[in-house]
Amino acid sequence: MPELPEVETIKRDLSALIVGKKILEITTDSPKQVKPSLSVVEKSIVGAAIIKIERRAKLLQIFLANGQILAIHLKLTGRLLVRKKGAPRDDWQRVVISLSGNKELRLADLRKFGWVRLVKDKKELRKLLSEFGPEPLDDLDLKKFKAILASSGRPVKIVLMDQKKISGVGNIYANDALFLAKIDPRRPANKLDDEEVKALYRAVQKVLQAGIKYRGASDQYYLDALGRKGSYQDHFLTYGREGEKCFDCGGKIERVKIGGRGTFYCPQCQK
Ligand SMILES: [Zn+2]
Repeated sequence: MPELPEVETIKRDLSALIVGKKILEITTDSPKQVKPSLSVVEKSIVGAAIIKIERRAKLLQIFLANGQILAIHLKLTGRLLVRKKGAPRDDWQRVVISLSGNKELRLADLRKFGWVRLVKDKKELRKLLSEFGPEPLDDLDLKKFKAILASSGRPVKIVLMDQKKISGVGNIYANDALFLAKIDPRRPANKLDDEEVKALYRAVQKVLQAGIKYRGASDQYYLDALGRKGSYQDHFLTYGREGEKCFDCGGKIERVKIGGRGTFYCPQCQK
């Protein structure tokens, strides 16, 4: 699933590529992915110009000059691609928004869990965004982070990935942050001491910043808005490295399951 760095990369790409363009048409062969319905969305957005792109958690928001907003979530396998009109169809292409300047914004999505949703105004948007916790690179300060961890006895990795508590951290960056902070991902969140909480807070910021610097991780489906791979997968610390050498101690990275998700850690370094 695209996490904060991947969605942030797409947001920055879209800001450069489609702001100022006018929406001409929306088509889909997967109508369930357009909410509340294709006809409602079509009536609201066709003719409107795109004025800015924002991101909160893993949710992209395309602001229109008519005051409405298109919210887009890529879920597990979504890609958001800007193509020239008439360019070859993309793999798993589901929704196409035609734009002025002979461009198309395409949602491609193998698993079809991603969606495009019309949000009528900023009030409705605030309601939608209220489901997400604070942003690690913005309004999540150390004090809030400490309180979030202290409020749960669940494994710290699960708490890091809980979007209601903290925005944008998924499996890749949770694994790598816990490695940097030298914390066993199974530890109950509320049992971390002050030093560990501080180390983890810094580690989360550090891995997310690295993810943005490398334009995301393309170990699976993720591509940026021009269809290019990111390169954070070449810099994974533990994620996907089962049986490989720990970069710190040379021991073997192991894999366990926590909350049903593959979890990679170094038993020597992470206590
Ligand atoms: Zn190690």
